[in-house]
Amino acid sequence: MFFSSKRVALLLGFSIALVTTAFLSLVEGVSTQALLVGSLLAFSSSYILIQVALDFLVFREIKKIYTMINKLRRKDLSFVEEEKLESSVNPLRRINREILDYAAHKQKEINDLKKMEEFRREFVANVSHELKTPIFAAQGFVYTLLDGAAEQPKLRKKFLKKAARSLDGLDLLVQDLLTLSQMETGGIKMHYEHFNIQETVQEVFDQLESEAEKKGITLKLENTQPATFVYADRQRIYQVMINLVGNAIKYTKQDGKIVTILFTESDTGVDIVVQDEGRGIPTGDIKRIFERFYRVEKSRARNKGGTGLGLAIVKHIVEAHKSEVQVKSKVGEGSTFSFMLPRGEKPIQPALEISQPESEEVE
Ligand code: ADP
Repeated sequence: MFFSSKRVALLLGFSIALVTTAFLSLVEGVSTQALLVGSLLAFSSSYILIQVALDFLVFREIKKIYTMINKLRRKDLSFVEEEKLESSVNPLRRINREILDYAAHKQKEINDLKKMEEFRREFVANVSHELKTPIFAAQGFVYTLLDGAAEQPKLRKKFLKKAARSLDGLDLLVQDLLTLSQMETGGIKMHYEHFNIQETVQEVFDQLESEAEKKGITLKLENTQPATFVYADRQRIYQVMINLVGNAIKYTKQDGKIVTILFTESDTGVDIVVQDEGRGIPTGDIKRIFERFYRVEKSRARNKGGTGLGLAIVKHIVEAHKSEVQVKSKVGEGSTFSFMLPRGEKPIQPALEISQPESEEVE
């Protein structure tokens, strides 16, 4: 570089020495020796001072900026993590800081995009696999029928039933996928209303009664109050309860076990708890069970009829109610899922034919 710190310091030092000597020569009685010493002193001190100042304040920072720009050109953003710049009054250092902030921002964007791409690839692979399973099964049953099983009434019914069950599974999966995608794109409106959640739980029990009975599981609603009012989207909360109680039944093996629902009312809201005495979830898996298609049992053959999307939907709905699902579980002992909802009020019964107020709609 033409403007190196040494050259600039040399030039300025020489000029300062020249000016100092010129001024000294105007003073009467100053000897040539003193003039020489004065100019030497002026030159060396100004040379050293200027070089140090330029090196530390300007050229070092400029060099850093160049290195950063070169790294940015090569898309090497590793320096973003390494570099830590303290705030400074030096404008060059501030420029340096700006570049670093910009690079850090870009690095975050790149990381997010990479993660999204990975997530998208995984999601497409999972959806394809989950769709393929029931389609292949139904296809197999239909071909078996075509190959002759249809001639025998007993076999015909058996294979038709199996094909229908596979297609039901497919239908469930597509419905869950649609619900999830609508929730993520904000396409679903929440319809908030005041309602008695104990009635909702009773409807869930009615729906899942036969499934529980088949496995010898008792469904129990532990209520200290005759009614528990919450302010939420009734349909969505019904879906949450179906998924949670459904899982509690699905992942409980032995006869004689109990699935309990309980409510705790407090000033902050109503805590809704679904407790089972099933197989439990290993600690390492707990934080992942809300991911789409994540299953504790890794083999795909383990699918107990679930779509692998149930808890992802639960999480979305509960979060839409500004709440969070808590999980406590111990392998072999059971699991507890809980979440809070805002307290509701008992709706005032209209005296006679008074038109019902419409429920509030919130995006
Ligand atoms: P699935 O359709 O597989 O049930 P979910 O999203 O509902 O999908 O649940 C994800 C996984 O979390 C399940 O595959 C299961 O391994 C685990 N899980 C969920 N609820 C329970 C529970 N009550 N007891 C034990 N494991 C559970």
